[in-house]
Amino acid sequence: MDIHEYQAKEILARFGVATPKGALAYSPEQAAYRAREIGGKLWVVKAQVHTGGRGKAGGVKLCRSEDEVMDAADELLGKKLVTHQSGPAGKIVGRLYIEGGVAIAKELYLGFVLDRKSERVMVVASSEGGMEIEEIAAEKPDSIVKVSVEPAVGMQAFQAREIAFALGLKPSQIQSAVNALMGCYRAFEELDATMLEINPLIVTEDDHVMALDAKMTFDDNALFRHPAVAELRDKSQEDPRETHANDRGLSYVGLTGKIGCIVNGAGLAMATMDMIKLAGGEPANFLDIGGGATPERVAKAFKLVTMDKNVEAILVNIFAGINRCDWVAEGVVQALEKSPVGVPVIVRLAGTHVEEGRRILARSGLPIIRANTLAEAAERAVAAWKNNANTVGLKVVNA
Ligand code: GDP
Ligand code: MN
Repeated sequence: MDIHEYQAKEILARFGVATPKGALAYSPEQAAYRAREIGGKLWVVKAQVHTGGRGKAGGVKLCRSEDEVMDAADELLGKKLVTHQSGPAGKIVGRLYIEGGVAIAKELYLGFVLDRKSERVMVVASSEGGMEIEEIAAEKPDSIVKVSVEPAVGMQAFQAREIAFALGLKPSQIQSAVNALMGCYRAFEELDATMLEINPLIVTEDDHVMALDAKMTFDDNALFRHPAVAELRDKSQEDPRETHANDRGLSYVGLTGKIGCIVNGAGLAMATMDMIKLAGGEPANFLDIGGGATPERVAKAFKLVTMDKNVEAILVNIFAGINRCDWVAEGVVQALEKSPVGVPVIVRLAGTHVEEGRRILARSGLPIIRANTLAEAAERAVAAWKNNANTVGLKVVNA
C-alpha cells in the first residue's frame, strides 16, 4: 500500500526526521490560510498523488505570495496529473500539501528497500539528489553508497555516520544526518515498510538535514499489525478495479489488452499471460482467485473481470492442488447460468478431480470452449477473441 507524501512526512517526523513546516489543504482558500499560518515569504504547493515525478509534470509550485498560493491551488485541485511514472491514466489531485519554502544548499538521495537476496534492509544513498535513482545509477554510479543492515541489531549509529561522511557532509551536518538516517530506518522497520524514498534529502543553508519529499510503501500482508497505517489508505489513488477486488478478498491486476484471465496463483498468472502473448493476444487483466475457490468466489471473479469493458474473451486457467476442479467447474457453470457474460469463455482445468470438472462443464450445455493444456487454452482464447471481434465488427458494418 502506498501513502501520500504528507502522511509519510508525518510518520517520519514522529521518528525524529526533520521536515519543513507544512499543512494540508482541500481548497484554494484553505491553501492560502495554511500559507499564512506557516508564515515566511516562500511556499511550495504540492499535489498529493500516489506517483513520483510531480515536479516535472507541474505538480509542485513555488509561490511568493498568498495570492500565488491560492492560484496554484486553484489550478492543481481536481486536475489529472500525468507524470512519467503515473501511467497515461494519471492521478486526480484531491489534496494539496502546503509547505514553507526552505533554502536548499544541497540535494541528496536516500532510499531504503528490502533486498530479497540478502534478506536485509538495504540503504541506498547518493550525493546527487533531485534526479531519479535510475538516472543516478546510469550517470553518476560512483556517487551511490549502499549499506545493508544486520536485522538482529538494526541500523547502528556508526553506519549512519559512515553514510553521512560518504555523502560528503561536513562535521557540522553529521548529527542532523544521523538523526534522519536512524529515524528513517526505525520507521521503515517498525511499520513494516517495503520502500522508503527521500528524494531529495536536503542540507539547508544553516546545516540542517531535512526530508523535502517522502514516499513510503507498506507490506499489505503486515497492515493488520498497523491499523493506524492501514487508515492512511486513499482509495481515490488506486485503480478502482483493483480496489473493488481487494475489498472482496481477490487479487486483481488491471492491464490494457483484451483477454481477461481468471487463474489461481501468481505464478500461473504469469505463465498464462506469457502464453497469451505468445499466441498473439494481450491480457486485459488477471484475477487470482487463490486457493479455496468456492463457486461463489468464481462467480465474483466473473463479475469483476467483466466490469472491465475492454474484456472481449475470458480465459479461466486453474491448476487445482488444494483446490478442486469440480468446484471450480461448478462455479463457472453457476456464474454463467446466472449472468451470461456476452464474450467467449475458455476453460482449462488440471489437477485434483479434473475428470469430474470437465464432465460438469460438458454436461452444462453452456457454450464454454474447453482446453486441456495451457498452450491450447491460450491459442483458443486468442482465436475466440479475434473471431468474436470480427463478428462484432461485421454486425456494426451490417447495421
Ligand atoms: P517529485 O517531483 O514528485 O519527486 O516532488 P518533490 O517533492 O521531490 O519536488 C520536486 C522538486 O521541487 C524538488 O526536487 C525541489 O527541487 C523542489 N522543491 C520542493 N520543495 C522545495 C522547497 O521548499 N524549496 C525549494 N527551493 N525547492 C523545493
Ligand atoms: Mn521527489
